Amino acid sequence: MEEQGLPFSLPLSQDSFRELWDSVVTPSISTIQTVSVPQESWKAGGPIDMLLIDEHVLTRFDEDLFELPLEVPTKDDVTPPASTVPVTTDHPGEYGFQLRFQKSGTAKSVTSTYSELLNKLYCQLAKTSPVEVLVSKELPPGTVLRATAVYKKSEHVAEVVRRCPHHQNEDAAEHRSHLIRVEGSQRAQYFEDQHTKRQSVTVPYEPPQLGSEITTILLSFMCNSSCMGGMNRRPILTILTLETPEGLVLGRRCFEVRICACPGRDRKTEEENSTKLQNGTMQIKKRKSAPPPAPTSMKKSKSASSAEEEDKDVHILRVRNREHYEMLKKILEGLELLDKESKTKIKVSVKQEFARPSSGKRPLQRGERSDSD
Ligand SMILES: [Zn+2]
Repeated sequence: MEEQGLPFSLPLSQDSFRELWDSVVTPSISTIQTVSVPQESWKAGGPIDMLLIDEHVLTRFDEDLFELPLEVPTKDDVTPPASTVPVTTDHPGEYGFQLRFQKSGTAKSVTSTYSELLNKLYCQLAKTSPVEVLVSKELPPGTVLRATAVYKKSEHVAEVVRRCPHHQNEDAAEHRSHLIRVEGSQRAQYFEDQHTKRQSVTVPYEPPQLGSEITTILLSFMCNSSCMGGMNRRPILTILTLETPEGLVLGRRCFEVRICACPGRDRKTEEENSTKLQNGTMQIKKRKSAPPPAPTSMKKSKSASSAEEEDKDVHILRVRNREHYEMLKKILEGLELLDKESKTKIKVSVKQEFARPSSGKRPLQRGERSDSD
C-alpha cells in the first residue's frame, strides 16, 4: 500500500518508509548506513534507487520469499557498507570462529611464519601464507570469509591500505591495487566499499573435508611493509570476518602482519625484544613492590629508618651465603624495628618540645610586654 503511494507523495512516503525500515531491521551501524542510502537517492528520485530499496527490504523482511537474494552481480552493489573505522577486536561469535597458523619456526629460509606471542604474521612479499579457519558448528550456506587490511595505529587508521604505486604499476591484474589476495580459489572476489573505499577480498567458506576439522585459506600480501607510497613502514592488521551472503558478520579475528624480506629473522628479533621488554618491566615492578626483607633493602641503619618514605635511599647488598643473608636480614629487621620505635619516640618528644615553648611563650610574651609597658 505504501509503496503504491510512494511516487505520488514524496515526503509522506519517506516517513512511512523509515518507519517500515525501523520495524523490520534491528538497528546496527550497517543498517543505519543503508538507511541513509535510500534517503539520499530518494531526493535524486531515480527509479534504479527504488529498486535497490526494494531489494534491501525484501531480502531482510522475509528471506523465504526468495531462494536467492536476486541476481548475484547486483549483490556487489548492495552489500551493506562497511563501518568507517573497521572493528579490530576478536569476536568468535556463536560459531566459535578461530584462526590457526602453521608452525613454521624462525629459520632463515621460511617465507611465512606466525608469532603466537605477538599475534603477528611475518611473510614475504607475494608468498602464500596458509591460514587455518576453525568453527565450532556448521555455518549457514553461503557464508563467506572476508579479509580486510587496516592500519594498526590510530593516527593512520582513517587511511585506506593499498598497494604502493610501484607495485600497482607493474601488475596487470584487475585487482592490482589490493594488498591482500586470496590464492588458489577461482571464487575469490575483490571489493572496494563505495563509501569508505576500503578494499577487501572474499572467498566462500568451504566446510572442512572429511577427517579434518579445519579449512585452509591462502592469503598473500602484495607489498612490503616498507613500501614507499604504500604502507611506508606503518604496521597493519588483517581482519578476517565470517559473513553471511548479506554481509552480516558472524565472527571476527584480527592479527598483525609484517611483510618483509626475512620473516624468520624479524619474528625472532621482535619476539626477543618483546620478552626483554616484559622482563624489564617485571624487574622494575619487583624492585618497587619488594617487601623490606628482600635482599635489596639492606644495610645502613640510619637511612633504613626512612624506609617508610620508600625507595628514596635504598642500598643493595649482595649476599652469597644463605645463612649470612638470613642473619643480616634479622639484624636489619631488628634495626628497622628499633628505628621505628625511636622515630615514634622522637615524634612524641618533638611534639612535646613544640608544645612546651608554645605554652611557655605566652607568659614570656606577656612578660616582655609587661616589661615594655
Ligand atoms: Zn609495494
